[in-house]
Amino acid sequence: MTNKTYSCDIVVCGAGTAGAVAAIAAADQGKNVILIEQYGIPGGSATLSLVTPLMHTGIKGNPMCSYISDEINRRAVECGASIEKGDCWLDPMMLGIILEEMLMERGVKVLYHTTVIGAEKDGNAITCVNIFNKSGHGKVFGKIFIDATGDCDLCALLELPMLHGNEENGKNQPVSLRYVLGGIDTDAFWAFYSEKETGSPTPRPVQYCGAVTTDEKRQFPLRPLFYLAIEAGDLMYDDAVYWQFFTLPGRNDAIAFNCPEFFDLHDADDAENLTFVQLEGKKAIMRQLKFYKKYIPGFENAYIAQISTMVGVRESRRAVTDHIVTNNECLAHMQFDDAICQSNYPVDIHGRKLNTFEILEDSGKPYYEIPLRALIVKDVDNLLVAGRNLGAEFVAQSSIRVIPTCRAMGEAAGICASLAIDQGLASLHGFDGALVREEMIKRGAIFA
Ligand SMILES: Cc1cc2nc3c(=O)[nH]c(=O)nc-3n(C[C@H](O)[C@H](O)[C@H](O)COP(=O)(O)OP(=O)(O)OC[C@H]3O[C@@H](n4cnc5c(N)ncnc54)[C@H](O)[C@@H]3O)c2cc1C
Repeated sequence: MTNKTYSCDIVVCGAGTAGAVAAIAAADQGKNVILIEQYGIPGGSATLSLVTPLMHTGIKGNPMCSYISDEINRRAVECGASIEKGDCWLDPMMLGIILEEMLMERGVKVLYHTTVIGAEKDGNAITCVNIFNKSGHGKVFGKIFIDATGDCDLCALLELPMLHGNEENGKNQPVSLRYVLGGIDTDAFWAFYSEKETGSPTPRPVQYCGAVTTDEKRQFPLRPLFYLAIEAGDLMYDDAVYWQFFTLPGRNDAIAFNCPEFFDLHDADDAENLTFVQLEGKKAIMRQLKFYKKYIPGFENAYIAQISTMVGVRESRRAVTDHIVTNNECLAHMQFDDAICQSNYPVDIHGRKLNTFEILEDSGKPYYEIPLRALIVKDVDNLLVAGRNLGAEFVAQSSIRVIPTCRAMGEAAGICASLAIDQGLASLHGFDGALVREEMIKRGAIFA
């Protein structure tokens, strides 16, 4: 074991959506960046939990508040991993490759297969994170640290106070184990699906999606078939509670499924729960595969192309930051002087009963904003968070957590860290978020 030591300006922990974009943004500002990732590809949930497509910001024109997001989208279209403006349909695997290319082009030093397992402090400032990988125990020293682990691992390892689940009982949103099937005759499937939907087969769209839930107020073309299969013992009731599929650009014989979902597991950072989901999830996927083959035309030769490496975690530990975005601020479309991101994506809380609704209140601007202070971790001088583990209450986080918003937060965190180093600041607290937003806009980020 060589127990290596590294040193740089900015240390980014976790190469998911927020972490990869944070590293790219900081490198664009001319900083030496080390990006630490436990798996072997960037993208996190968006790649390794097979999440697709990109959700819409819910704002007219879909401004993503991130110049890097626009570059990712453009590259995705260029390589056939997306269509049109690249701001919706997406192949998760290709997304990982695009992010990796962008990181390499910018000279970010990536440490894959490396887990952040601790951190050391001098007073209120972090000096280094402790890592573990095949080389042994190592240390990565830096001036500013960004916790983009999705689950706030760095904050938790520092034993900082944490938010977790909803405010009433601490329960996290349900998790899922998404999968992709290949070998599907998508023409035959669409003919069958559209006939069930409209009474006669319609021409197959370029990309399409569909769903089944047990919400009796809504109609779903395939639900009667699910109920038939449950009756016959070929499916379980939970298979029909939330089932969703999306086609993937560039993969003409493949379909991605946003299920199975685990409605009764409410601790998303418990390793035993995550193991249970992997074990039971694969059984559910096998059950669903057999169901498609038996009941749905087009799936006769279907096979499992991918199963999520990372369990799909919607929400787990979240940081206590200088400002915590409250549920009311999100619902009331609150604006902030130090805003670094805007969104009007609906509240999206999963469970046996899906709680998805539009944000109704409107202060005159049809979106809410995320202040930079929601990324600056309280009581530590040089620690930012970005992504789904930001400082936000439960309902607010359910809207904020989607990929475009995580990209914007990552970009803001990377730029903030860089500007603070340029200014020689000893502490991030009180940093002017307007400066970060101005830099994002100068580089091409579009805000509403
Ligand atoms: C089932 C599901 C469906 C979803 N559907 C959509 C959708 O359709 N559209 C949409 O826009 N959004 C969707 N989302 C939300 C969105 O995908 C995520 O919220 C977003 O991708 C989170 O990005 P992140 O960077 O914050 O975290 P993550 O993507 O979770 O990234 C965290 C990264 O940190 C790494 N990491 C964690 N701990 C450590 C450690 N200790 N050391 C080293 N590395 C570590 C992980 O391996 C990972 O790469 C969905 C989420 C789920 C779970």
